[in-house]
Amino acid sequence: MLTDNHGRKISYMRLAVTDRCNLRCFYCMPEHGLDWLSRTELMTNEEMLQICSLLVKMGIEKIRITGGEPFVRKDIVQLLTGISGLNGLKELGLTTNGVLTAPYVPELKKIGVRSVNLSLDTLDANRFFTITRRDEFSNVMASLDAMLSHDMEVKINAVVMDGKNTQDIIPLVELARELPVSVRFIEEMPFNGDGHVYDGSHWDYVRILDEIKGSYPQIKKLDDPAYSTSYNYQIPGHKGSIGIIAAYSRTFCGTCNRIRITPQGELKTCLYDDGVLNLKDLMRKGASDEALQDALLTAFSHRPADGWEAERARVAKTGIHESMATIGG
Ligand code: SAM
Ligand code: SF4
Repeated sequence: MLTDNHGRKISYMRLAVTDRCNLRCFYCMPEHGLDWLSRTELMTNEEMLQICSLLVKMGIEKIRITGGEPFVRKDIVQLLTGISGLNGLKELGLTTNGVLTAPYVPELKKIGVRSVNLSLDTLDANRFFTITRRDEFSNVMASLDAMLSHDMEVKINAVVMDGKNTQDIIPLVELARELPVSVRFIEEMPFNGDGHVYDGSHWDYVRILDEIKGSYPQIKKLDDPAYSTSYNYQIPGHKGSIGIIAAYSRTFCGTCNRIRITPQGELKTCLYDDGVLNLKDLMRKGASDEALQDALLTAFSHRPADGWEAERARVAKTGIHESMATIGG
């Protein structure tokens, strides 16, 4: 079993395959996008597969593909197919904005992708446009339909933002009445790509739960699965469930089992650190699997206790300026 210096099991890896995206969600990146990484800065499929293969041998059991938007990478299906064939991998999932996803769903099912996190912050097409700066609501809903009709496990990710979409909390809860989906409300984090801070007040998990309880006093707490980052709830009569992710309050660090690899091959042992090891650079210098494994084990033995410690230790003391698209969520 792979563990860190705090005795926490490491078994889950998120791999961001690109920083590029076909939406411009304002909580994630500026309107003009980012200074996109060049092709040579991005990892190739072969490099990503080598990293996945090594980490699965070391003890990673679950991999989630994310980005940027995974489906803007033309070779994404080949990568997913390669990863799904790794011996020892128990689960392969992905996170997508759903703009291009619908036509891929049958293939994803065949490859063995059982669970998809779909980002959807509102059920109102106009607000969708305001939040994402693109007119793609109907394509996202088509992807949701396709996933459900192929019996995929779907989690809806909705970032809650004061003055932007708090009126969508209850409609999104209602979605879980009709559909077997888990709707997860996420506290907004400061990874918006230019370090700006909104003047609106923050919606933390307590406030989000209070808002839901106001309309559904009968809401019941569910047992949270091991390593869950969400507090999970059921409303009697609803087919789906509700989750709240305290991503900014960071209440889940004590059991965190996840690591992240950025599109340029940087290992993050905490969402809030600014990268601790560049695996792509090591591979391109010819490092053997043994050397990579030693470097990874060293990084795992210096993991911060929590996201607050990681944020304090960031090399760039200028605050958080990266976009979630370069982290993967
Ligand atoms: N493009 C894909 C998508 O949106 O689903 C995958 C990448 S996206 C960076 C992964 C997740 O991060 C999404 O669910 C998104 O809502 C979330 N996210 C992005 N920026 C965030 C922020 N500033 N605070 C909280 N969550 C954020
Ligand atoms: Fe793109 Fe996802 Fe970021 Fe939205 S949250 S801009 S869909 S990477």
